[in-house]
Amino acid sequence: MSSNAHLGHHAKKRFGQNFLHNDAIISSIVDAINPEPNENLIEIGPGLGALTEPVIERAGNLSVVELDRDLAHRLRHHPFLAPHLTIYEIDALKFDFAELATDEKPLRIFGNLPYNISTPLIFHLLTFKDKVQDMHFMLQKEVVERMAAGPDCKAYGRLSIMTQYQCQVIPVMEIGPEAFKPAPKVDSAIVRLIPHKEIKNPVKDLNALNTVCLTAFNQRRKTIRNSFKKLISAEQLISLDVDPTLRPENLSIDEYIKLANFIVDNPPELPEPKSKKRSAKK
Ligand code: SAH
Repeated sequence: MSSNAHLGHHAKKRFGQNFLHNDAIISSIVDAINPEPNENLIEIGPGLGALTEPVIERAGNLSVVELDRDLAHRLRHHPFLAPHLTIYEIDALKFDFAELATDEKPLRIFGNLPYNISTPLIFHLLTFKDKVQDMHFMLQKEVVERMAAGPDCKAYGRLSIMTQYQCQVIPVMEIGPEAFKPAPKVDSAIVRLIPHKEIKNPVKDLNALNTVCLTAFNQRRKTIRNSFKKLISAEQLISLDVDPTLRPENLSIDEYIKLANFIVDNPPELPEPKSKKRSAKK
């Protein structure tokens, strides 16, 4: 059997398949998730059931979202697991997770995610954050470091700001490549995300926060005076009490929120179309 076959399934690279196979590691991950009966548990990418099975043992039932039709088929016909599963054979990036949530039962989402789609998937899941109790994900270690990073360090960026604005980010444990078959080339880590019940300093528009982060970190070695030129002038930065000589990684999340709110209130002028002139707002 070739090295990327596990339990008779040939791992598919395009689906980011790296299967967990070490019982001790699997049980510490399940301990971290702490699934309980009657919870609204959802696993993304159950694969061959490494996490699914011990979660069923503790919680009874769960929903799973699996894109690979061969794996979905296996689960559907699995003698022990199938009766406990609601299987959605669909791309998690397109799945409407709100469909599964109720007011009494917020979602508890978890998964050993395909690393090639982890960032867009997390942004997709964050759009349902009001219906989510918590999320536990296995990610590339660097991605967890970026999510959890604070200002003044290299890992701090758009992912840190967008995630921490919406959730508490708790790195739980690191896992080496040998825990998977086939072994990935990178180290992995489990992160717990708990959406904030209430956001103390809310931004007027989440897209504006994303825009200021993209603008700033697109050129992370430039001073913000330079990178924000088209959105906010140096004088305006000073009037907002933000030092224009700083670099993007030196600004706190609250400062990014302030800049985002500024561009909501003072939208940058778009280049004028050739003939028709619109009356300038300001
Ligand atoms: N949970 C298993 C498998 C992890 S591998 C384990 O830990 O062993 C990643 C899993 O995500 C695979 O089952 C893969 O088929 C699935 N997957 C990949 N892309 C997906 C997507 N877009 N939506 C849902 N599942 C996906």
